[in-house]
Formats: sequence, structure tokens, C-alpha cells
Amino acid sequence: MTLKVRKPFIAGNWKMHNNLEESKKLAQAIVDASKNKTDVEIMIAPVFTAINTVSKITKGTNVILSAQNCHWQEQGAFTGDVSPAQIKDAGASCVILGHSERRSIFGETDEIINKKLKTAVKFGLTVVFCVGETLQQRESGKTFEILSEQLKKGLADISKEQTENLVIAYEPIWAIGTGKTATPTQAQETHKFVRQELSKLFDESASDKIRIIYGGSVKSENIDAIMSRPDIDGVLVGGASLKAESFLRIINFKNE
Ligand code: PEP
Repeated sequence: MTLKVRKPFIAGNWKMHNNLEESKKLAQAIVDASKNKTDVEIMIAPVFTAINTVSKITKGTNVILSAQNCHWQEQGAFTGDVSPAQIKDAGASCVILGHSERRSIFGETDEIINKKLKTAVKFGLTVVFCVGETLQQRESGKTFEILSEQLKKGLADISKEQTENLVIAYEPIWAIGTGKTATPTQAQETHKFVRQELSKLFDESASDKIRIIYGGSVKSENIDAIMSRPDIDGVLVGGASLKAESFLRIINFKNE
């Protein structure tokens, strides 16, 4: 059995799913089932339009409410976008940044993600910062180079103190929504590398505290094996976070 050094962080990214009723129902089921759960931090990320409604359910509970993206300005002429201040105002305390879908579909670069990250942290939001390589990059032996660059550029000008509000999500792009998962050994090896990079960017004491979570086709069937590795401090779950039953099984992972 592996004892966790860092408190596990289990996050559900609902993406562009669930209407208001479905969001309320799912949030309520998670809140109810995790009332006495103090050994993990639980986060859920509904769509922007459901944040305020869901905040009435998560308020005062141990479920952290997150947005899935934000802009880097506090306010202004940015049609269709939402600022960190507005996310807080709606009742969330966390934001996911750098998700591969934002990078690949919306063209977000490391520089854009860094601007968002700096503003989000400045406004006191916890940031789940996603990094990950494509299949082609992995197969051509470039995984560590890519991750190193994403971390360096994405975390530029972030201070050691600000890393207290930071969670890193390692999400190999080839494993997101594909049913393919990095093996626990592959994930552990990569998480260990990410931790070493964080130690270079900040220092060892900061890097020892930062949660590095894994994302990519996590489900009830593979959670126990994934969480058994020492540098895997939690998971970011897409598909399997949309059903209370599977997400709750993930939250209640068993140490192998
Ligand atoms: C994700 O969206 O971050 C993700 C990991 O999705 P899935 O669990 O569906 O692969």
C-alpha cells in the first residue's frame, strides 16, 4: 500500500456537457456522498452557465468548484469571454488552464496560457494547469522536451509562493477521451520528470508540495492502479466524471 505524501486531488471536468438540472443533480450526488470525506480534495468543473447554480450546492462543502477556462483580463471588450474575477463572483475558486482541447481547438499557446495563469493566480483562483504530449511527440521521443517547454513557458513569472495555488495535470493528449491510458509506470515516470522540472523552476520544497495529477481515460477500472504510484497525486477525469457512480468510485480509490 502506498501512503500518499500529498493530499490527493480528484477533479471532474464536465466539459460542454450537462444542462442546469443535470448539473445540479450530479453536483448534489457528489456533495452528498462525500460529506465525511476528508482524505481527498474533490473538484468539479461545470460549464460557465452552471457555475452559479452549482455554487449554491457546493458552498460550505468539501467540493471545490472550478471553471474550465478564463480570460487574462479583469474586464473589457472581450466578447464571449469570462474573467477570473467574474468566475470568483459566480462562486468558483478554481480554474482549469491549458487543457489540450483549448490548445488544439482554440489555438491557445503557452504564452496565452501563461497570461491566463498569472491573472487567475493573482485573483486567488487555484489553477489546474494541464500539460501533455501528442502521440507523435511521444513516439519520436520528445515527451520530456515538450513537457519541459510547456512547464517553463506556462509558469513563467509565477513565484514559489504562488505555487501553493497550483495543481499540475499531466494529460497525454493521445489518452484523452480515447480509452487509451498511459500505463501506471509510464505515468509515474512522467510525473517524476515533471516534479524534477518543477524543482528546477522553483525549488525542491515547492516541488514536493505541488500535486501532479494524471488525466486520460481514467475510470473506475483503472483508478486504483494509477493512484498506487508515488508521484501521482490525483486525477483529472473527463468522461467518467459525468456519472455520479463512476466518479464516486474514483474518489474512493483504493490503495493497492
Ligand atoms: C480530460 O478532459 O481532461 C480527460 C482526461 O478526459 P477523459 O477522462 O474523458 O479522457
